[in-house]
Amino acid sequence: MALLIVITGYQANPWVSKLQAFEPKLDIRVWPEVGDPDEIDFALTWRHPMGELKKYRNLKCIASMGAGVEHILCDPDLPHGVPITRIVEPSMSQSMSEYVIMVVLNYCRHNDLYRKQQIEKQWRVKIPIRARDLGIGIMGLGQLGGDAAKKLSHLGFQVAGWCRTPKMMNGVITYSGDNQLIEFLAHTRMLICLLPLTAGTKDILNLDLFNKLQRGAYLVNVARGEHLVEEDLLEALETGQLSGACLDVFRNEPLPEDHPFWRHPKIVITPHISSLTIPSAVVPQIIENYHRALSGNPLLNEVDVTQGY
Ligand code: NAP
Repeated sequence: MALLIVITGYQANPWVSKLQAFEPKLDIRVWPEVGDPDEIDFALTWRHPMGELKKYRNLKCIASMGAGVEHILCDPDLPHGVPITRIVEPSMSQSMSEYVIMVVLNYCRHNDLYRKQQIEKQWRVKIPIRARDLGIGIMGLGQLGGDAAKKLSHLGFQVAGWCRTPKMMNGVITYSGDNQLIEFLAHTRMLICLLPLTAGTKDILNLDLFNKLQRGAYLVNVARGEHLVEEDLLEALETGQLSGACLDVFRNEPLPEDHPFWRHPKIVITPHISSLTIPSAVVPQIIENYHRALSGNPLLNEVDVTQGY
């Protein structure tokens, strides 16, 4: 019985040491040093090579190292019937909410303007946007979007949220489904994307959607790069339909050096850090799921493969 870590683009070592510290007797293998593939019961993955997971015929669970699972579901050769889990962890919601609140407050308090004025030694006052005057629209009211919506509402912002199925949330105006999207967008001056990446949400941040926002709206994408049609963002910024954007995620990561976003005066970039998975925080739920998978008990945070999240 063994747990296999299949990770690309990041180091496996922090995961190995935290898993070992939590459960010293656990047999941990790190791809590509797999040993006997029939001994693998559980795969902990981040952007595994396509087709790799079907080699393990005794696999009982495929666990994502993060909140998203699109990097697993995009594999056309996934083994059939093996449940997929994701990370749900309060510290990740807290981290995402902190990031989102930082962006919102920077926007309301004209922080970028004051940084520029400081370089030019200029003393000019611009009245802040009051929380109650700012319509914030959050796409996705799940673990992360729901937490950010509640916290922004407590700060006094006008918060609306859009999700797939109808939902009630104190202090948040909620919309759901495609037929309420236009109404939701019309309310929104700052749009925050916290959707999972699925067939229904890919390319959703496009010119048609931007044109339904209030003129001069601001975009925050903290979900996945493939939600955003990059050329459409550039066009919306050019025409003034959008006044700016803060992007934490990109179609190609790291963002290529020659990408126009880097030097765009209206775009703020961070390197996919809005809510990092901290191995020590999430190892307990992974080990719990490892034991549940071995004993055939219901798994924590299993995703609905038919919905894609
Ligand atoms: P979640 O709990 O699964 O919530 C997803 C939300 O999106 C739900 O409210 C869901 O609606 C809604 N949704 C899904 N499909 C939709 C559709 N077609 N139309 C409208 N709404 C739809 O996910 P989460 O844990 O909040 O995470 C969201 C995403 O954030 C992840 O998938 C990941 O890609 C991204 N993320 C980014 C970072 C980062 O560092 N940048 C870190 C972690 C996660 P219902 O409520 O009706 O189901």
